[in-house]
Amino acid sequence: MIKQQWQAWRERLSSLIVLFVMGLMLVAGWRTVALMSVSGQEPAAATAVSDATLFIEADTAVSPLAGFEDSLPQLSDSSLAPGLNPHTYQGQLPEHELQTYLVQRGDTPTSIADRFGIQVETILGGNPRLSEESSLLQAGVEIIIMPIDGVLHDVQPGDTLEGLAQLYGVPVDDIINYEPNNLEFPYRLYPETQVVVPGAVREVFVWTPPDLSSVIGRTSREGSGVTPVVVGTGTFRYPVNSRNFTQYFWFGHRGIDIALPIGNPVYASDTGTVTFAGWNIYGFGNLIVVNHGNGYETFYAHLDSINVVPGQIVYQGNVIGATGNTGNSSGPHIHFEIRRNATQQDPCWYIGC
Ligand SMILES: [Zn+2]
Repeated sequence: MIKQQWQAWRERLSSLIVLFVMGLMLVAGWRTVALMSVSGQEPAAATAVSDATLFIEADTAVSPLAGFEDSLPQLSDSSLAPGLNPHTYQGQLPEHELQTYLVQRGDTPTSIADRFGIQVETILGGNPRLSEESSLLQAGVEIIIMPIDGVLHDVQPGDTLEGLAQLYGVPVDDIINYEPNNLEFPYRLYPETQVVVPGAVREVFVWTPPDLSSVIGRTSREGSGVTPVVVGTGTFRYPVNSRNFTQYFWFGHRGIDIALPIGNPVYASDTGTVTFAGWNIYGFGNLIVVNHGNGYETFYAHLDSINVVPGQIVYQGNVIGATGNTGNSSGPHIHFEIRRNATQQDPCWYIGC
């Protein structure tokens, strides 16, 4: 009798133990999922497991907003990943350690790039505003130094990894594999953060002036059959009476800046036809462009006043305007460009600096 009772009791005890162990396993499993979702930190070995559990959680979680999601604002995001529930998924934000450098007198873009072991283009990669004709690369200005060659991209709503890869012509994997970007599957980009695009080069916007033929009609005699294209001498003179260079020609600045007070005369560098004279919305401020009829054009930017009109013929040395501080300009100076067949060239090659 006692033996039978003892056996029955043992069976009950063992089933209780089994239940207890199963309960423990359930609790432990739930806690692991919870920890992973909260911290986002996953041990490398558990990555596959955590991805799977995250999916299950996202798919099966019953949102208190169930049924109302359609009327709620959705994250404008079309990243590579299948859509997770944006209410439950939050990835890691990028963490970049960017150093800054205070530009010293005598620095050039090349000397700064050499000092930090980066390409000169990368100076622009971290500082897009340097290309905005603002004469910003000067002593006393603090610039961002990128840790590697590439572009520091400000994430905009709607940006995707594929889009960035296409924009900069680099492989998607290069962006993902750059660790400080903190990109983990499902690879979401967050507006108001920055992503480093390794190997990318920031394009410099180049504004194109009107064609010579678009202004030539104003000076030609109708019906004469003659196209009075005035052709320059092929030599260039200084556009101002100053040699106070504040920025030379480099990848991010396709001209030279010469500082001098507002109101000084600006001379036509060579003979030609004015193709643009007026306000330029792309940072040049008051701008004159002279087309020299031989493939060359000269640009005179940030002017205070303009004495010529489009279509007008000017001769080398004519006063065409006065120096100023208009447009994206951080002090009175002239920005002078020489373009040959629409390509910006270093004016110092032509006028000596
Ligand atoms: Zn300039």
